[in-house]
Amino acid sequence: MREVEYLIIGQGIAGTVLGYQLLKKGKNVLIIDKGHEHSASYVAAGVVNPLVLKRLTLSWRALEFLDFAHSFYPELDEMLSIQSFHRAKLNKLISSEDEQLFWEKRWHSVPLDGIAERELEFLKDKNFKTDFKKGSVKGTAWVDLKKLLNTFREYARDKDILIEETFDYLDLECRNYRNIVFEKIIFCEGASCTSNPYFDFLPFSLNKGELITIKCPALNLKEIYKKKVFVLPLGNDLYRVGATYDRDFEKQYDAQLKRKELIEQFEAIFNCEYEIVNQESGIRPAVKDRRPLLGQHPLLKNFYSFNGLGSRGCLMAPKLSEELIDFMENGVDLNSEVDLNRFYQS
Ligand SMILES: Cc1cc2nc3c(=O)[nH]c(=O)nc-3n(C[C@H](O)[C@H](O)[C@H](O)COP(=O)(O)OP(=O)(O)OC[C@H]3O[C@@H](n4cnc5c(N)ncnc54)[C@H](O)[C@@H]3O)c2cc1C
Repeated sequence: MREVEYLIIGQGIAGTVLGYQLLKKGKNVLIIDKGHEHSASYVAAGVVNPLVLKRLTLSWRALEFLDFAHSFYPELDEMLSIQSFHRAKLNKLISSEDEQLFWEKRWHSVPLDGIAERELEFLKDKNFKTDFKKGSVKGTAWVDLKKLLNTFREYARDKDILIEETFDYLDLECRNYRNIVFEKIIFCEGASCTSNPYFDFLPFSLNKGELITIKCPALNLKEIYKKKVFVLPLGNDLYRVGATYDRDFEKQYDAQLKRKELIEQFEAIFNCEYEIVNQESGIRPAVKDRRPLLGQHPLLKNFYSFNGLGSRGCLMAPKLSEELIDFMENGVDLNSEVDLNRFYQS
């Protein structure tokens, strides 16, 4: 029999940051994860960006989340002796006069002072297909999630706080799971949460996304560029290009078509030879009202959820994990927009 304070199900970005924050507070934690094969975090580009680039608005609570992420990831990297957090400028590519006017208008009206550069810059690189200008967002970064998740997994293995298997809901009782006795259980299963019978009332609106990785020695980009797709430099001439969004993937899905879509969008920006070296997909745990799903089960008071991170898990997970812990440990109310009780209160 093993006794723990916190049993965490899932080691995507949600389970990882939550596990780390609890361990940092001296809590006795055990994580169960079936592997990264179906994890959205493992395929995600990991861009940390406060702006909705299409509309040029700030995403929800963006600046609080961004601020927190900037101190959180370097601290976690230091504990794991890795560098997974990379500061990198994110540039919106602008090709028409209308887009330019929109940038100027939004810069004043949002306002974007301190968040994005006011002046647009001409791009002189011959690899760009047209005479683009770039509008730069400040404070952006990307997290090398494969590195972060793999290293945290090794760390958890070494500390004997990881069980690598599928969690079976049929074996769960109020305070026991097989030979484990827990005080609290937190479900961080991402999109797989739709199979969780305890939280089946949560209104997910899952969204599948595809990404390709290309090798392109002619490009020498140091910054991230975004038109319809983003192009993110990984180093060693490798770039991630993505992503697609598809809500109807359960009815039909053609990965070849998605690949074609990404290629066309990449070729609409760049003029150079490249080779596709990888293609991956994942399912974003998005929610109908576009807010995360944190909090306590309505009846089983030691059952919790940390989910619904949608398409901005890297930006939001660190600060939200802290808020969930404050709720569980100190009874501090959750922000009403994330509290999952919004879906069961009449
Ligand atoms: C193509 C794509 C690109 C993206 N790009 C970005 C980006 O640039 N920036 C950004 O912030 N976000 C991005 N996202 C969104 C981001 O991936 C999600 O917000 C985030 O990964 C959700 O993390 P999670 O931990 O909740 O879920 P997941 O990452 O899916 O993790 C869930 C974990 O739980 C495990 N699990 C599930 N069920 C069980 C079970 N029964 N037993 C044991 N283990 C279980 C899974 O194996 C997995 O490891 C992207 C997503 C996609 C698909």
